[in-house]
Amino acid sequence: MIIAGKKIDSKDRVVVRSPYDNSVVGEVSRAAQADVPKAVESAKEGFIKLSKLSAYDRYRTLTRLAGILAQRSERFAKTITSEMGKTIKEARSEVSRAVETVTWSAEESKRLYGSTVPMDAAPTGTGKTGFYLRVPVGIVAAISPFNFPLNLSLHKIGPAYAAGNAFILKPAESTSLTGEMIGEAFVDAGAVPEAVNVLTGSGSEIGLHLISHPNVRVVTFTGSRDVGEWITKNAGLKKVVMELGSNSAVVVCEDAGPEAMVKRVALGGYAQAGQVCISIQRVYVHENLFDRFVKLLADQARSLKAGNPLEESTDVGPLITKNDVKRVRSWIDEAVASGATLVCGGEIDNNVMTPVVLANAKETDRVIKDELFGPVIVVNKFRDDEHALKLVNDTRYGLQAGVYTKDINRAWRYARGLEVGGVLINEIPNFRVDLMPYGGMKESGIGREGPRFAIEEMTEIKLVVFHIN
Ligand code: NAD
Repeated sequence: MIIAGKKIDSKDRVVVRSPYDNSVVGEVSRAAQADVPKAVESAKEGFIKLSKLSAYDRYRTLTRLAGILAQRSERFAKTITSEMGKTIKEARSEVSRAVETVTWSAEESKRLYGSTVPMDAAPTGTGKTGFYLRVPVGIVAAISPFNFPLNLSLHKIGPAYAAGNAFILKPAESTSLTGEMIGEAFVDAGAVPEAVNVLTGSGSEIGLHLISHPNVRVVTFTGSRDVGEWITKNAGLKKVVMELGSNSAVVVCEDAGPEAMVKRVALGGYAQAGQVCISIQRVYVHENLFDRFVKLLADQARSLKAGNPLEESTDVGPLITKNDVKRVRSWIDEAVASGATLVCGGEIDNNVMTPVVLANAKETDRVIKDELFGPVIVVNKFRDDEHALKLVNDTRYGLQAGVYTKDINRAWRYARGLEVGGVLINEIPNFRVDLMPYGGMKESGIGREGPRFAIEEMTEIKLVVFHIN
């Protein structure tokens, strides 16, 4: 736990264990409810101090932070893999993306533009000159999930700091070590210490106190739909930004050659053992390609090595908890009982599940309807484009979707018709670069991330009008 840039020692501890073998990875102080007002008081002071610094100062701090993350990249990668079980290759890639996220945030601290307002265009505006500024909200509470503990925390607190806000980060309990390391890196980069606060602990214990505190002006949350909904109901009068779950889909049209993209689809479904908000969960394949596609995907799935995430050759690591392994397996079994075919995978060892291909599941099965968050790809057929659009859109979620086709007119119809925050043509829905506007429609979220867009969510417009005689 870090308050006012200082590490706090408490008797009550969060003990972090590896999801692969349950070994102890490390421990940190556990934040109690009484720590929330302390963090808020510190952030208030931090905001005042930050207000006296220039945009260039914030740019320099964040640039130094990017350098520190790069220097400590292997330490971060090993901690992430040990805490949450993604493979070491995936953890290294997360660290390099985090360096980019902070670099973009640094750049964006130079671009807090306002605009003039043509006041005298209104009948009563004669003699008035107006313009608006973009100003920081003050204190941002950033609540992050376990699956990208470094990059997704920085997608919140990087832009928050760039805009001139103090922050209180609440990392997922299972990835508390990474959370604390992020706070230390900020302080080492020369950030205003009081603006840097990290509350390591349980969301259900301290969450309400944090999100409903009146001095917290923005709650930016990435996590599950249900916790997101609870936060929006309980935060009170303030802005909330919600980056929630999904059951992402890919459409493989008749004109697409499945051989070319099947490796990418497997990557999209099995990376991080399917524990990515934009993991491919559903693949809708044109009926004429269906059998060929299922065979190719199953061959690809069988070629992946599942096991110890710290081994360089591992492709698929463990799920985060035993309960998640049980839940995913029971959803598969339910789908099979109602008529789906388990084509391959599903064997379990030490929280690791071998990659699963399920074919012909019912659209009402949980493997289709709910967010699965496991190494499972469901492949179903469609007749024509209208049918595919209906199948993809028939869900409460809408984060990103992919479409494979060589026909530009068809691609455009999908781009217009899909109810998602991002449409990827000839690419899997998992594709993301950290500067793009990213977020969901429907129950997948409210607001967008990507430093430039996150800054819009964490700033307000202040209008200034001069009456000049
Ligand atoms: P989660 O909802 O269980 O937890 C997320 C965070 O919320 C954690 O820090 C947790 O401690 C905290 N929390 C839990 N209860 C709280 C409460 N009552 N008040 C305040 N905070 C509380 O999610 P998770 O299991 O860590 O992550 C997986 C979920 O995150 C999936 O649904 C996934 O799709 C989603 N996700 C979305 C995106 C996106 O950008 N849209 C990215 C990554 C993950």
